[in-house]
Amino acid sequence: MGIGLPRAERTQGPDRAKRHAVVIGGSLAGLLAAHVLKDHADSVTVVERDRYPDGPEHRPGVPQDRHAHLFLKGGVDALEKLLPGLSEELLQEGAPRLAMPTDILQWQGGDWYRRTAASTHVLTGSRPLPEWVVRRRVLADPRITVLEGTEVTGLVGDAARIRGVRVRARGAGQETRTLTADLVLDASGRSSRAPAWLRAIGAEPPHEETIDAGLAYATRFYRSGPGTGELPYRAVYMAIDGRQPRGGILAPVEGDDRWIVLMSGFRGNEPPTDEAGYLDFAASLPHPVIREWLEKAEPLGSIHGFRKASNVRRRYDLPGRRPAGFLATGEALCAFNPVYGQGMSVAALCAVALRDTLGDPRRTPTTRRVQRAMAAVARRAWDISTGGDRAVPGVTGNAVRPRAVDRPVAWYLDRVIRRVPGNPVVGDAFREVGSLAAPNTRLFTPKVLRAVLFSPVPAPLSAPPLLPETPDA
Ligand SMILES: Cc1cc2nc3c(=O)[nH]c(=O)nc-3n(C[C@H](O)[C@H](O)[C@H](O)COP(=O)(O)OP(=O)(O)OC[C@H]3O[C@@H](n4cnc5c(N)ncnc54)[C@H](O)[C@@H]3O)c2cc1C
Repeated sequence: MGIGLPRAERTQGPDRAKRHAVVIGGSLAGLLAAHVLKDHADSVTVVERDRYPDGPEHRPGVPQDRHAHLFLKGGVDALEKLLPGLSEELLQEGAPRLAMPTDILQWQGGDWYRRTAASTHVLTGSRPLPEWVVRRRVLADPRITVLEGTEVTGLVGDAARIRGVRVRARGAGQETRTLTADLVLDASGRSSRAPAWLRAIGAEPPHEETIDAGLAYATRFYRSGPGTGELPYRAVYMAIDGRQPRGGILAPVEGDDRWIVLMSGFRGNEPPTDEAGYLDFAASLPHPVIREWLEKAEPLGSIHGFRKASNVRRRYDLPGRRPAGFLATGEALCAFNPVYGQGMSVAALCAVALRDTLGDPRRTPTTRRVQRAMAAVARRAWDISTGGDRAVPGVTGNAVRPRAVDRPVAWYLDRVIRRVPGNPVVGDAFREVGSLAAPNTRLFTPKVLRAVLFSPVPAPLSAPPLLPETPDA
C-alpha cells in the first residue's frame, strides 16, 4: 500500500504532480506530524477546529489543558530531535525543570521516596506552554498552512485509497467542501471520529481496546501566598495507584509564583470541584502536606474537573480493509490514563517514528509500515499505563483480562515497585522506563534483576524526606 507521498529522492522534476498532506487536528501530535510531513510533501494543511489563542492560553478543543501535564524526559528528547533548541526555548519561557527523585517529595503505596541524586528530569509547565512553543516554530514554515476554526466532517476516498477530507468552517450556515490530499493523518485526539468516517467510505474501522480505571481529576492554579514560605522541595507527588485510590500533585508552572494543584481519584473516589469538597479531598490524602500548603495559598481561578481519562488503543497497526494514505497518531491512535504523564511524549515519539520511517532509504514507507512504527512507540507507553491500571480495583474495559505473560511480569513488577522508593538502582531504572527514556527491558538488565530478585525491600522512611540526600539537588 503506497503511502501517497513519494520518497524524497523521487520528488524532483518539473512533471511531478504536487503532493498534499492533510493533518486533522492542530494540537501537539498534529503540529509535530505536520513538521515531519512538510519534508515529504509539497504542502501540508493542518485543519484545526479551534482558533488559536495568541499565547500559551487554554483553548476549548483541548479541555484537558487546564490540568497538570508532566513532560517526560523521553518526550522532551524526542522534541529536541524534531525541533533542535526547543527544550531550551521551553526553559526560557519558564517551564520548570525538576530533577527526579531529588526535587520531589513523593509518596507511593505507603512509602516516601528517598531523594537521592537525579537520574532523570521532568518539565512541569502548563499544557498550553509546550503547544504554543511548538506551534510558533512549526507554523513559521511556509510549507505548512493551518485552517483555523475549521473542522473535518468526514473522509473522501474508498477502502483502497484516501483522496482527501470533507471540511466545514465552524459557525452557522457554513458549506462543506472537499480538500483533496494524497495523505491524511488523524491527530484529532482521544475523541477521534475517524473510525466512523472510515466506515462511511466502506473501510474497516480499527479494533478498539479500552481499560478504564474511572479516573477523575480536579485542578486549580494558585499563587503560593504569604505564609507558605520557601519549600525545601520543588513539588509534591502523592501517587495514585492500585493500592491508593486518591492522589495529589503540587507543582510549579511557568509565571511568577504560579502553582498547579491536582487532585485525582479512581472510580468511587472522584475529587469534588467545589471549594469545601476540594479541601476535604486534599485532607483525605495519606499525608497533609498539600492540604497544609493550600490553607495559605491564594487560588487563581476556579476548580476544573475532568473525567474522560481511560486507556483507549485503536489498532490501526493490525491488518484491515483500510485505505492507503490514511494514518493516525497521538491520542487518536492511543490515549492513556493521564496519571502516567505520557500523551505529549508519545505524540513527539510518534513524530520521530514517522520521520524515521518516511526517510528510511532502505525500505519503502508503506502505510502499514509507517503506522506500525508509530503504534510500536505507543505500545511501550500502553504497556506501562495498562499494566498499572489492571491492578486498580473495579477497572473495566474489553482489554482488562490479563494474558498468560502478564502474570509473571506482574509478579516481577510488584517486586520492582516495592524497591523503587528506597533502592536507587531499581528506582533509577524504573524512572528511566517511566520517563519513556529507556525501553521497558531496562528493568531486566543484570544489575536491576539482581537488585529486584535478591535485595531486601528497603525499610520505609518514617517521615517525609524534607531535604534532598545530595546537596547539588
Ligand atoms: C486530564 C488529562 C491530563 C493529561 N496529563 C498529561 C501529562 O501529564 N503528560 C502528558 O504527556 N500528557 C498528558 N495528557 C495527554 C495530553 O493532553 C495529550 O497527549 C496531548 O494533548 C497531545 O494529544 P493530541 O495532540 O493527540 O490530541 P489533543 O491535544 O487532544 O488535540 C486534538 C486536537 O484536534 C482538534 N480536533 C478534534 N476534532 C477535530 C475535527 N473534527 N476537525 C478539526 N480539528 C479537530 C482539537 O480541537 C484539538 O486541537 C493528559 C490528558 C488528559 C485528558
